[in-house]
Amino acid sequence: MKKPENIFDKALNYLEYQKDIFGDFSADLSKTETESESNGVVVEPNVAVQEPESEVESNQSTKVEEEALSSELSLENCTSLEELKLICLESDDLKTDLENTNLVFGVGNASADLMIIGEAPGENEDLQGEPFVGKAGQLLTKIIGAIGFSRDDVYIANILKHRPPDNRDPKAEERQQSLPYLYKQIELVDPKLILCVGKVAATTLLDKDDTLGNMRQKFHPFMGNRELMVTYHPAALLRNSNWKRPCWEDVQLLRKRYDELEGKP
Ligand code: URA
Repeated sequence: MKKPENIFDKALNYLEYQKDIFGDFSADLSKTETESESNGVVVEPNVAVQEPESEVESNQSTKVEEEALSSELSLENCTSLEELKLICLESDDLKTDLENTNLVFGVGNASADLMIIGEAPGENEDLQGEPFVGKAGQLLTKIIGAIGFSRDDVYIANILKHRPPDNRDPKAEERQQSLPYLYKQIELVDPKLILCVGKVAATTLLDKDDTLGNMRQKFHPFMGNRELMVTYHPAALLRNSNWKRPCWEDVQLLRKRYDELEGKP
């Protein structure tokens, strides 16, 4: 693609780029309507002029398409993070009793070998729709940076995908309702290692009530041949700096195991 000189070249380059991906197309005003009706699900552009169908045929095919779409968009049949996100956007099971919160789905490398799982979104995460972006999140970014990872290398998610009111701990039933979605997310990312930050994430995924001290510094077998490690939540480190040292030991151990397992990148 040639280097753009001005706005027209930029527009031309953009259209050529779109054409490379989607093929030849022309403006189709009916598409705008379809897109807004489908809640932002991008419908492939019409590339060929089609013969008009009879009304009966067209109703039948719409019904079949809708059925296919709704059966596709079930948790069991879901095959990509994009689909899972659409399912999560529609799911009332994931909501807490705080109204009008945004979905905080997950972020990072969709095929990361390391997945980091926290507790639940806070205010900043809710506003930005991204996990771990507030003060604790910035510390988490530094912690993983210290063992050679950027946020784009790993995948970050939470047990809950919506913010609980007043940042209270997630209730047991909220955690249970969110788990099938998180299991699917783990299956799709397919990491070799999982790092749980904090007791809530660890006890939920390991399904046992234990102290953080007992759970850290070991690799717990998890979901097939994955391994799960536990360390302190960055928000806890902000409150008590005595935990920084053991957290550092935990993440060094994690990095060593990641390299042994030939994690990528
Ligand atoms: N704490 C969490 O556990 N998750 C976030 O996304 C932010 C803060």
